[in-house]
Amino acid sequence: MSEQVTIIRMAEICQLIHQYNHQYYVLDEPSVPDAEYDRLMRELLALEAEFPQLKALDSPSQKVGGIALKSFSQVTHQLPMLSLDNVFSPDEWQAFVKRIKDRLKSEYDFSICAEPKLDGLAVSLRYENGVFVQAATRGDGNVGENITENVRTIKSIPLRLQGSDYPDILEVRGEVFMPKASFESLNQQAIKKGEKGFANPRNAAAGSLRQLDSKVAAKRNLAFYAYGIGYVGASEANDDEGIDETWLANSHYQRLCQIKALGLPMCPEVKLLDNAEQVENFYQDILQQRDDLSYEIDGTVFKVDNIELQVQLGFVARAPRWATAYKFPAQEELTLLEAVDFQVGRTGAITPVARLKPIFVGGVTVSNATLHNQDEINRLGIQINDTVIIRRAGDVIPQIVSVVIERRPENAQTISFPTECPVCQSAVMKAEGEAVLRCTGGLYCQAQRKEAIKHFASRKALDIDGLGDKLVEQLVDEGLIKTPADLFKLTELDVSTMERMGKKSADNLINGLLVAKTTTLAKFVYALGIREVGETTASNLALYFLSFDAIKLATEEQLQQVPDVGVIVAKNIVNFFGQSHNIEVVEELEAIMSWPVIEVKSDDELPLKDQTFVITGTLNQMGRSEAKAALQALGAKVSGSVSAKTHYLVAGEKAGSKLTKAQGLGVAVLTEDEMITLINA
Ligand code: NAD
Repeated sequence: MSEQVTIIRMAEICQLIHQYNHQYYVLDEPSVPDAEYDRLMRELLALEAEFPQLKALDSPSQKVGGIALKSFSQVTHQLPMLSLDNVFSPDEWQAFVKRIKDRLKSEYDFSICAEPKLDGLAVSLRYENGVFVQAATRGDGNVGENITENVRTIKSIPLRLQGSDYPDILEVRGEVFMPKASFESLNQQAIKKGEKGFANPRNAAAGSLRQLDSKVAAKRNLAFYAYGIGYVGASEANDDEGIDETWLANSHYQRLCQIKALGLPMCPEVKLLDNAEQVENFYQDILQQRDDLSYEIDGTVFKVDNIELQVQLGFVARAPRWATAYKFPAQEELTLLEAVDFQVGRTGAITPVARLKPIFVGGVTVSNATLHNQDEINRLGIQINDTVIIRRAGDVIPQIVSVVIERRPENAQTISFPTECPVCQSAVMKAEGEAVLRCTGGLYCQAQRKEAIKHFASRKALDIDGLGDKLVEQLVDEGLIKTPADLFKLTELDVSTMERMGKKSADNLINGLLVAKTTTLAKFVYALGIREVGETTASNLALYFLSFDAIKLATEEQLQQVPDVGVIVAKNIVNFFGQSHNIEVVEELEAIMSWPVIEVKSDDELPLKDQTFVITGTLNQMGRSEAKAALQALGAKVSGSVSAKTHYLVAGEKAGSKLTKAQGLGVAVLTEDEMITLINA
């Protein structure tokens, strides 16, 4: 790069970082993901290292990012509040360790305080003679905002320190954050009210703390973990006696324990490591736990534990030399929305699917994401050719979070919904009160036909051996089947003469169909694919009505007597059996299939009657469906989500957020073995 080009590029990056800083720190509304910001900052740092003479005096690399809002009174920090440098890989971590050893001119290992990197907002809490008197944001590192009244509303921050062993003036530093559950419910409320919501828990915490009305902050359910000590001193009255230096331990970890003993919350995951070699393990451990933690983190932080060594190492412009963030791979990235396709599902729902320029995010390459429905498209204000932020966290399906409006190109196009079904050209309609557009073609629509048959054959329905999704598509495309009932009319010859099918796979399928003819009433009802009738509802219907005829003939009122069946589900069931093309198929199936009569059990035989169970994690001795059926056979209700009404959570291996939630609600937790004992009792 010529010097001229470098100057232009550096100015461009500085201008962008200034703009992003303003959006992030002042407006609490970032327009690009952190990964994009971090890339720009790294590019700037690399250019500044190569061309130090070109470094701008006001370069953002030299400053802590925030600015104190004028609407709050300002607080000058007695000791600056700095940021952290960051590393992203084992090599960068090793380079950090080497820099420390070089600077200390020592080959010795050093112990390290290892902490999660909380994704919230840095604050400094000031206690005078044990009483909380002031809280301030980091601001630009030297001057922050006085947010005392808002912080006073955070329940976990003590307004008076415990005990009496503390300095006259003590500044505790830490992170105010919004737990994930509070963030989700806050955003859901905002969306219900037609408001935009916050981009992430960090911005939600920052936005809540910077409310001028502390009553609003009080409702936001914020939390706090301490991660350091700032200024410590004697009050003016005691000045002659000076500060009790012996109060402060010479270890960062011990200092955290000291402030914990005074009643301040400390993150339970913090650990003291003997040496730099243990850092990778801690990083991996926390990365594994990330989705299950109740608070958002974006990496880990490692600090040289010995305070004397910290003092020797000192600071650079915006960060200490003795600490670094070791960040996790990005969960949010930028990419392009190249097109939108419309898919027709089993129930005719027409779903817009975003075709994205492939992007590596959250550990996988993502090229599609659902846009759900027209409401979601309106909410995002998204157009084709827009640059979008895509998020993939844990096992959650990728989501488009927002659009970078500033990058909208001239050729952006609005997304228009089809006026007829893209597969069968039938009319489309939107039911009152529904956001979803549906094809009215029913089983006439090839797409619905395929999805209905795939569902019919799926594992939790009839579990037809030898009939995968690809084969269903082929059978429908070749006109061999139109309905689930047609499956049973297939002959070995039909199948074996199909492309890519031999005698063996044909035998396999015919045999699979033979086996599938005998099922249970619950599975048969589920297999029909009635809208919103999942496994649990199907099983409740079977247990309540005991015969298929009774279900077919039930009125909406009768259906609503069944556990879990509300007005909408009852309507869906009545509608399903009210359509002649469904009845034709159902009657054909009834003639082919059979299921055992359900024996009515007395209450004595239903020891788990009225008990609600939730199953989570991996079970080793029986499949989940099997466990569910066994519990239901004893009268239990098996639900998909944990609530205050849950009686037992069965936690298999790698149980995650449901276990955390159950523990929080005081729900009894059973191991797989305990559940089996209960079933066999
Ligand atoms: P930072 O968030 O990378 O690191 C410093 C901060 O980490 C501290 O101020 C503190 O608040 C926090 N922290 C969390 N846990 C900690 C612990 N255990 N010990 C010490 N500190 C801990 O730095 P920053 O200067 O606050 O912000 C820079 C980062 O913010 C960027 O790397 C980027 O990811 C993000 N950012 C994004 C945008 C955007 O537009 N998306 C704009 C500005 C900044």
